[in-house]
Amino acid sequence: MDQIEQVKQKTDIVNLIGQYVPLKKAGRNFKANCPFHNEKSPSFMVSPERQIWHCFGCGEGGDAIEFMEKIESMDFGEALKMLADKAGVKLERVQYDSAQGAKKDRIYQMNHLVSEYYHYLLLNHRIGKEALDYILKRELNRKTLETFKIGYSPNSWESVLRFLKKKGFTAQEMVEAGLVIKNPQRDSYYDRFRGRLMFTLKNHRGQVVGFAGRKIFADAQDNEAKYINTSETPVYTKGNVLYGLDVTKETIRKEGKAIVVEGEIDALASFQAGVSNVVAIKGSALTQGQLELLRRYCDTLLISLDADLAGDLAARRGIELAEKLGFSLKVVILTKGKDPDECVREGVQYWKESIKKALPIYDYYINKALEKYDVSQADGKKAIVKEVLPILAKIENLIVKDHYLKILSAKLNASVELLLKEIEVFEKALKLNSLTTNQVVQIAERPREVTLEEHLLSLLMQSFNPGIYEKELDVLKNYYQNDLLKKILVNVTNFLTQQKNWDIKKFAKISPIELVPTIDRLFLEDLKIDSEEEKDSDFRRTIREIKINTLKNKMQKISKEIEKTTEEKMLNKLTLEFEKTTTEMKELSR
Ligand code: ATP
Ligand code: MN
Repeated sequence: MDQIEQVKQKTDIVNLIGQYVPLKKAGRNFKANCPFHNEKSPSFMVSPERQIWHCFGCGEGGDAIEFMEKIESMDFGEALKMLADKAGVKLERVQYDSAQGAKKDRIYQMNHLVSEYYHYLLLNHRIGKEALDYILKRELNRKTLETFKIGYSPNSWESVLRFLKKKGFTAQEMVEAGLVIKNPQRDSYYDRFRGRLMFTLKNHRGQVVGFAGRKIFADAQDNEAKYINTSETPVYTKGNVLYGLDVTKETIRKEGKAIVVEGEIDALASFQAGVSNVVAIKGSALTQGQLELLRRYCDTLLISLDADLAGDLAARRGIELAEKLGFSLKVVILTKGKDPDECVREGVQYWKESIKKALPIYDYYINKALEKYDVSQADGKKAIVKEVLPILAKIENLIVKDHYLKILSAKLNASVELLLKEIEVFEKALKLNSLTTNQVVQIAERPREVTLEEHLLSLLMQSFNPGIYEKELDVLKNYYQNDLLKKILVNVTNFLTQQKNWDIKKFAKISPIELVPTIDRLFLEDLKIDSEEEKDSDFRRTIREIKINTLKNKMQKISKEIEKTTEEKMLNKLTLEFEKTTTEMKELSR
């Protein structure tokens, strides 16, 4: 057994986590309020059997070592050492269990060194003078440059190459870190960033994951982009980084709000002006990864982006994702300047005032559409309805929905009833569509059948004697619609026929690696029922509901096909199938 395993086995995770948060028993697991995000009811679960933890609120999870890394802001080696000391395991030398971990570590080291190098050149070397003049002219001060480790990459082909070679890194490693590019024709290497103002990109824990470089010399021959970024590397995925978060997360947590801006300089300008609960998404649309990160710290987003939030599809998608995660959203409309940086430079008060006056997202959508189209014309009205109504239709809170429908109805001089009717029409169309685009929707919305299918698996895996359901399970797999969940179900069934005794540890061990995260999540799900009898009746109820759901879907699908078919033979076949399904359904409902 390797040392990491040894340390993990000698650590009692319930005891360990219990020193940081009060744990309460919940079935086979324990629960608590999550220490990594704000919450009022507990969704943080710990399993003594699997020696793992998971929060259903913020999505964080892992083993004892990962818990220590997070809660104490340590790196892997430090956490391992601390737990080893506690458990009385003597570490031979810090060794990594995977080449991947070691590789990431090397990349972090290179990035860190290069960040210091660029930063030094900007602030202290004559080579960076021009760049320093440029950025000081843009009114960022030295303190800000230091806080965010702004730097300068020399206008040369091999500065980083030489610098890192001296520190003992190979050119191939530098390519993996995205710092250096290989020229395949000449089998040579050159620096990715040359003659640019450098922004150090860090993850929320402050590790340097990459860089963004802004062009500063207006060179006519240079047709390279204004900004270039580190390529995707083992430690850098563009959609998972929020510029500034490592510095601003505490303020964001305190205020419960984050201001989301487009560019690095916008974030820096705002921070320097004293409005420091800010992050930049670097010109792309908000991603699920970024939003989940933000959700740990706050529940309100103030959005200040250049994009037309209603018209730009990517931006719209970002907003929808944010709404699904339960954010309350407001849109900042600048009272001066074309971006936050310009606004701040016109005067901090303008930026503060813009933020204070931020509009709730739905007011923004309505106003924007009214600006874009002519409300006095029928065509204009139609365009406004087409743009705004689908958005309002999705509002879950009925009071809020009613509020905005009334506003829209007044602006259009059309009754609320009429708008409701219009909603009905396109919702019908949407429903038909969603049958074919099920796959896409599934990730975002977790439709009822997925929830049911998951719930049943949770019941099974948390039961002490799931063997009693063997017969039901064999039939049930034909009703599972989600492929991944179906795989788990089949594996559980096979396990039960072979082993008789249910053992979650053994089961996880022999499961394909890609299924384990889901297995763990389902095993940790808080069922909120303790007695085996209650579990049993819940189990049977859920089975029935899953079957009914699947049959319903099947019937819908068949009837859609019937509508489309003109061929008599096919029609007969479909009708027969439909009748069979109805009969099956009736039997279930009895
Ligand atoms: P500046 O004020 O320095 O001109 P900006 O933020 O106003 O910068 P924009 O052109 O509005 O610049 O771009 C917004 C953001 O989008 C940038 O800050 C940068 O993060 C990102 N960005 C811009 N151009 C590119 C590009 N070509 N490739 C990748 N990212 C880019
Ligand atoms: Mn700008």
